[in-house]
Amino acid sequence: MTEPDLPQPPTRDLCGTMLVHRRLLNESMTYRARRAAIENRALQYERGRRSPVRSEVVTVPVVVHVVHNPAVPEQNIGDDQIHSQLAVLNRDFRAANPDREKVPEVWRPLVADAKIEFRLAAVDPEGEPTGGIIRVPTDRRSFGFDDAVKASATGGSDPWPTDQYLNIWVCQLGGGLLGYAQFPGGPPQTDGVVVLHTAFGTTGTAAAPFDGGRTATHEIGHWLDLYHIWGDDDGACTSDDKVADTPNQADANTGSPVFPHVSCGNGPHGDMFMNYMDYVDDDAMFMFTRGQVTRMNACLEGVRASFLVSSHALAVPSRPAPAGPVPSGAAPAGLTSAGPVPSGGAAGVPASAPGAAAGAAGLHQAAAPGQDFGPVPGPAHWPAPGAAPGVTDGAGTGVTDGAGTGVTDGAGTGVTDGAGTGVTDGAVGQAARPDGEVTRVLRDSERLVTEVLRDIRTAIHLVGGDRPGG
Ligand SMILES: [Zn+2]
Repeated sequence: MTEPDLPQPPTRDLCGTMLVHRRLLNESMTYRARRAAIENRALQYERGRRSPVRSEVVTVPVVVHVVHNPAVPEQNIGDDQIHSQLAVLNRDFRAANPDREKVPEVWRPLVADAKIEFRLAAVDPEGEPTGGIIRVPTDRRSFGFDDAVKASATGGSDPWPTDQYLNIWVCQLGGGLLGYAQFPGGPPQTDGVVVLHTAFGTTGTAAAPFDGGRTATHEIGHWLDLYHIWGDDDGACTSDDKVADTPNQADANTGSPVFPHVSCGNGPHGDMFMNYMDYVDDDAMFMFTRGQVTRMNACLEGVRASFLVSSHALAVPSRPAPAGPVPSGAAPAGLTSAGPVPSGGAAGVPASAPGAAAGAAGLHQAAAPGQDFGPVPGPAHWPAPGAAPGVTDGAGTGVTDGAGTGVTDGAGTGVTDGAGTGVTDGAVGQAARPDGEVTRVLRDSERLVTEVLRDIRTAIHLVGGDRPGG
């Protein structure tokens, strides 16, 4: 046989995110320290000690890497399948999905609009117009959760700067995996989500029961720091998803459960199995809760704050279509309103577009994909594979080095979260804010810096002396 076999589409949900999470925890004390800091921030939001600052909808620039084996042509999915996925995301993260009506009465008040939208990038890292879709042939028959798909050197496709774009790799996954994400706080060069092509979008190769586009909704939930709703404790009821308004549940639900399904003594209503962060079939999941949205906001206003100011990747008003018409009804908001395709390449970026000039400049400064990215403090500190992360070196003074946080960079920039990605609240729509508000935010940031420093020191203490093997 010369052609790779096309594995049968999975019949049961399987997400590799926790496998990646545990691998990174084992490999890297930097990751552990960052996760501790990110968790601390999420806890502050969860407990109401901090409130989300953001009120506007944020639009996340997306680049889709279609990594396909030419021997299996269907892996090279069509643009319409990609657009169908974007349309699902833009419903699910706005609580605009029609099937939200199926949420049991008792939980309807919890259904929440995350106010996050997704749009294929219009400007690439070099500042050139793009359709936001990259097609890369590979010799690989399939990929696993080892991140090989995220690098050209291992048969995949290098990411675009992961602090400016949500990178989505679509490929053949093996081992029954539907997809996996990397939690915030991980290595920037592997940040993003991976989705099996037969579980991506609603058309083309998408195959039941995962043809509702919900695998990407679930994985992007992880990318925004959501845990599985059952807490990944294998039925022990001892761990939960760190979100108070989702009931504690024993283990993953699969298929299409009947309400109520009681576990962990969570009756009478039981498990919230219709949540996007469970494992049920695509047509059986319909909601994020308010608590989950609060946690996503802690992430977006913290470790992923760069996405609140990175609209330059979307600056070109019309998508310079690489091929074919965008199917109406499937295209994400904003793309179908496009005027004539600009003929002048980069000249298509209007000088009047908000942030266009600054954005282009920023993009030109960005490092090439696969290298450390741009001005973000985190990536520059991320240790090379196998290197001692150096957290213990900083145990006395600093957090600056080992934790990779850039904590000493100054209160206004990249400090508050310890996650190394421009966590400043001040960066969040600051220009539009009255002075009093800015002052308040800066004061909050200063307080949070102190708290985060304390937490990072605690984290360092907890892992002190413990160096990764290999
Ligand atoms: Zn998952």
